[in-house]
Amino acid sequence: MSTTPHLLDRLASLTSIRDVEILEFSLLKTLNEMFRPEQLLLLKLDAFGQRTSTLRYVSEGNALTTVSSQHPGQPEIDSALRMAQRINGTYHTQLANGHFLSAYPVLDMRMLNICLVTQSRQMATPQDARLIQGFLQVYRNFCVLLEDAQHDQLTGLLNRKTFDANMQRLIAMSEALRSGSRPQDERRNQPQPHQTPLHWLCMVDIDHFKSINDRFGHIYGDEVLVWLGQLMRETFREEDLIFRFGGEEFVVITENMALAGARTAFERFREKVAEFRFPQIPQVTVSCGAVLITPGTFAHMLLDQADQALYYAKRNGRNQVCFYEELVESGAIQPIEPASGEIDLF
Ligand code: GH3
Ligand code: MG
Ligand code: MG
Repeated sequence: MSTTPHLLDRLASLTSIRDVEILEFSLLKTLNEMFRPEQLLLLKLDAFGQRTSTLRYVSEGNALTTVSSQHPGQPEIDSALRMAQRINGTYHTQLANGHFLSAYPVLDMRMLNICLVTQSRQMATPQDARLIQGFLQVYRNFCVLLEDAQHDQLTGLLNRKTFDANMQRLIAMSEALRSGSRPQDERRNQPQPHQTPLHWLCMVDIDHFKSINDRFGHIYGDEVLVWLGQLMRETFREEDLIFRFGGEEFVVITENMALAGARTAFERFREKVAEFRFPQIPQVTVSCGAVLITPGTFAHMLLDQADQALYYAKRNGRNQVCFYEELVESGAIQPIEPASGEIDLF
């Protein structure tokens, strides 16, 4: 077991990493040094099985490349991925060129699937496969920790800390789609390239939540929060972003072609809450303030605008959805202007 100290060193250095991208790079580098495969791929797939990113490590010159999701890839790899998912375990096969291909499922979460693929001249021994599984377990634990850190404990929704990063990712993605690289997915029959999808931010606040706590107790209040999170997940689409911002405040970001679509989505949610029978509590309602996300607007500005629309909804009877743009246009509220010299976030 002369390799044991060496292995432990590698494991120790892997477990000291706190950044997922560095960890992925180190994982592939370590596996490359240990097994010298022809190529190593770390593939991420979305809920529809579409590749969202591919990290590729090839032996020549220790090069790590990021292959775009549009990369045609090798059909054998896609078929090995499907097999690994189907058998829910490692799938080994031999390619026409005599190389051996192994697909290791790494993570299977609702919105994210991760798989490692190795291509080698030699067949992986059972000991090699066990070692690879061990390294993947380190990576898996890290991903799960990261998931926990990004979600609110009570509702399981995204937490406030992840808001800025998620917004930036979303804007970058919509920019990429706008420039014509939309991946084929279940919406392929919907928006045409000339129709640019828009994003909407909606701030949701439970009406008179303090009195729910006061009348029924904090535990029932917490239960309302959990149910509300569940209702949000059921109402909005899988790709919409839902955050618990703190206390009884939530933020949703949706993609809709126009204001009418966004209104339908937010109104549907508001009605669903008003009609829902919460355990012990006669009725719970929410007020919503929504705003169109225009690229180039500061994140805090969008939140202020949504908050102003929400405040208007609260002052004017609660249990309603108000749009910032409409309120400004009708003269009901004054527009919020950026302070001069502010830095553009997106
Ligand atoms: P409004 O309709 O104007 O929004 O009234 P409100 O009572 O909902 O608003 P207010 O901001 O006065 O009260 C919010 C309450 O939410 C106060 C706080 O005790 C409660 N709260 C915040 N976080 C939690 C939580 O995690 N659990 C429970 N049960 N209550 C919480
Ligand atoms: Mg509040
Ligand atoms: Mg409230």
